[in-house]
Amino acid sequence: MVKKMSPETLAAQAGGLIDETSGAIVLPIQTATTFIRDPDNQYRRGFVYGRPDTPNVRQAESVLQQLEGAEACLLFGSGMAAATTAFLALERPAHVIAPNIMYWALKKWLADDARTLGIDATFVDATSAEAITSAIQPGKTRMIWLETPANPTWAVSDIAAIAKIAHDAGAILGVDSTVATPVLTRPLALGADIVMHSATKYLNGHSDVLAGALAFARKDAVFDRAARLRANLGAVLAPFEAYLLLRGMRTLHVRVRQASASALTLARHFTQDPRIVEVLYPGLQSDPGHAVAARQMQGGFGGMLSVRVKAGEAAAVRTAAKVELWKRATSLGGVESLIEHRASVEGPGTPCPPDLLRLSVGLEDPADLIADLEQALG
Ligand code: PLP
Repeated sequence: MVKKMSPETLAAQAGGLIDETSGAIVLPIQTATTFIRDPDNQYRRGFVYGRPDTPNVRQAESVLQQLEGAEACLLFGSGMAAATTAFLALERPAHVIAPNIMYWALKKWLADDARTLGIDATFVDATSAEAITSAIQPGKTRMIWLETPANPTWAVSDIAAIAKIAHDAGAILGVDSTVATPVLTRPLALGADIVMHSATKYLNGHSDVLAGALAFARKDAVFDRAARLRANLGAVLAPFEAYLLLRGMRTLHVRVRQASASALTLARHFTQDPRIVEVLYPGLQSDPGHAVAARQMQGGFGGMLSVRVKAGEAAAVRTAAKVELWKRATSLGGVESLIEHRASVEGPGTPCPPDLLRLSVGLEDPADLIADLEQALG
């Protein structure tokens, strides 16, 4: 028996899990919402009711927990359910520090709604350790939140350096690692306390499951509160979605590495294009986040990049309208490539440059993707 499976092996074999009753090497979907109690009034099999926990969810959690090197993992019905739970699990009143550039819906929730729940957020340039340090409110800051690389500019934050700042201040570090995935970055090994994923993206990888995840360095009070919140708010993942997610994770490594290689090819290609003002991608040596990314990302820089169209916003929207192969849609991390005029989605108040097109590179031949974008740029 292999003592310690590599992450690739672990993911490909879905943790080596076998169905005990049939011997099937693909786990069945268990749809039951309730589970039998033993005659002596115990629940020895570990399942009671579908809202706190189900077998398919627990199987997928176990694989992600191992991929992240976590002590515990919780899956949720969406990435937003996971992320908001990480904040709601903090003791109140809570001051938190979050990036200026981050997933827009979560930033809006923090800015508009979290305050009424006793969570007060300060937004800073999260690529700057100095900016984060000066935002700390001694004795009040409970969590620093990072997203790296961050939507939609792919700005990179130094997880190890910021974990130290957080811990010195008595706070924890939470990292939205949706874009990096455990294939490229393992935030807990760099000192983070919680890793969050929109599992809707790369972890599932096929644009057909809405899911979220929190992986915890420790089974501590924050974990306990997060687990209770999930059960009490019913922010759970259904068995079929958990089954699909586990199936998606089996090919995670090959998908993420291929998407990263293709994204680098596209990034390099479009830096040469006179119709593009700027390519935003941490894999480019010219990118301001490259040095940190090269240190904390292994085997690639992710499948997400953005390009800024020289002729401005209207030309960017026109370009997105003219693509034939790229799918004009929001989201990211699927096998099919997506293009999006990001400012249109984020709306008023967004820090997203109006000439920016966000590209999620899938598994198509990068030459086809380049040719299509070239014709669309006109
Ligand atoms: N975090 C990032 C980086 C995302 O891109 C998204 C979704 O776009 C989310 C969180 C929210 O995830 P979900 O849409 O699964 O709720």
